[in-house]
Amino acid sequence: MKILTSAIFFLLTVLTAVSLADEISSSAFHGALFADHTCNNQDKKDSLLSPPNTTTSFPTSDSSSGLDCDVWSKACSEAVLSLARRAEMAAWLKAVRRKIHENPELAFEEIETSRLIREELDLMEVSYRYPLAKTGIRGWIGTGGPPFVAIRADMDALPIQEAVEWEYKSKVAGKMHACGHDAHVAMLIGAAKILKTREHLLKGTVILLFQPAEEAGNGAKRMMQDGALEDVEAIFAVHVSHQHSTSVIGSRPGPLLAGCGFFRAVISGKKGTAGNPHHSVDPILAASAAVISLQGIVSRESNPLDSQVISVTSFNGGDNLDMIPDTVVLGGTFRAFSNTSFYQLLERIEQVIVEQASVFRCTAEVDYFEKEYTIYPPTVNDDRMYEHVKKVSIDLLGEKNFMVVPPMMGAEDFSFYSQVIPSAFYYIGIRNETLGSTHTGHSPYFMIDEDVLPIGAAAYATIAERYLIEYG
Ligand SMILES: [Zn+2]
Ligand SMILES: [Zn+2]
Repeated sequence: MKILTSAIFFLLTVLTAVSLADEISSSAFHGALFADHTCNNQDKKDSLLSPPNTTTSFPTSDSSSGLDCDVWSKACSEAVLSLARRAEMAAWLKAVRRKIHENPELAFEEIETSRLIREELDLMEVSYRYPLAKTGIRGWIGTGGPPFVAIRADMDALPIQEAVEWEYKSKVAGKMHACGHDAHVAMLIGAAKILKTREHLLKGTVILLFQPAEEAGNGAKRMMQDGALEDVEAIFAVHVSHQHSTSVIGSRPGPLLAGCGFFRAVISGKKGTAGNPHHSVDPILAASAAVISLQGIVSRESNPLDSQVISVTSFNGGDNLDMIPDTVVLGGTFRAFSNTSFYQLLERIEQVIVEQASVFRCTAEVDYFEKEYTIYPPTVNDDRMYEHVKKVSIDLLGEKNFMVVPPMMGAEDFSFYSQVIPSAFYYIGIRNETLGSTHTGHSPYFMIDEDVLPIGAAAYATIAERYLIEYG
């Protein structure tokens, strides 16, 4: 998940650190996004990320319950939980997560992470297609026929130096799983193990999506272009949250996470001496008017009950107190919680800047960094899919361990899936004061309570299995 306070700070830093003379290029933005991004030594990596050797003692089918679960019951939830809670399962999930944590890979470079996942799927005899979106995997378990339901985990790490001192600290300088995607992968592999054990009970097909590049590059969009959602009628995904106690699940119907975009406008006039302004075309005046007019979009054109934001965070032009400059570069960010409002903002920001510039005889060009894939639409939960997650969570973990959460200003590229099929995104808590897992995602101190892994795996598996029974 993208943490937008840091994104704003990041953009501000990038935009203000570069003077008008060194015009901000989109590659500067992209380069900073992928800061400290070097290829790893492939020779060394086979040994670094081979699967943990703890996979031999699992049952191959769920003989413990003897339940058919044609109609889901509490006993079925208990059967899944008991599989997830086996000591060897918990130890294996920790080992998988730690391997990935020690060897973080950035967006679209999840080569060894993807290899580890495929090796685990091979051991379980789970079929898959690879690659999608460079490093992504589409696995499947079940009848091979409809209905198809997908569960997704993101795989990428961040360009952050880990500051947590522990035995399995990142071994790669400047890279860290600081958003918990290592845990998401482990939970989805755990779900695969549970579902494979219960394959004879599945009433359709579960699609496992291991996706690259959530943090940068819109991996979800690329996965869809490569057929990730073929035949899939609903999709679910989880994100760890430091705001909830370990294993507490949270979600909400409708808009959950904001859509997020950035813009940069170059307003061009004509340079001239400040004492004779009539010989110049002043981009400072035009840009100032544009900033003021941008404030009118949200305050005058939007429904006050439909939260939206436009913030201009950068304004650079001129370096001589006696000269009107040729150009001004301004930039900022915008957010909205519905797709309609989000794309309206995108359209209106450009119109207002271009037309306001023309009032003062200037021209303007607006860039949304689309080539750098920094536009994330809002994540909107389908009401029925949200109800499904809620019901599954309460059945598995009890009323006390499910909560309705408020919408948040963060963004997630899961939104691309949610634009095309019914979906639900939910959180699972990793907060444990005793362990110190209290830091927000994207912090160098971020850590998780690993006790969440078996519960996260059980939740993924049950959401998928019950979907096939109850919605198929
Ligand atoms: Zn994330
Ligand atoms: Zn993140």
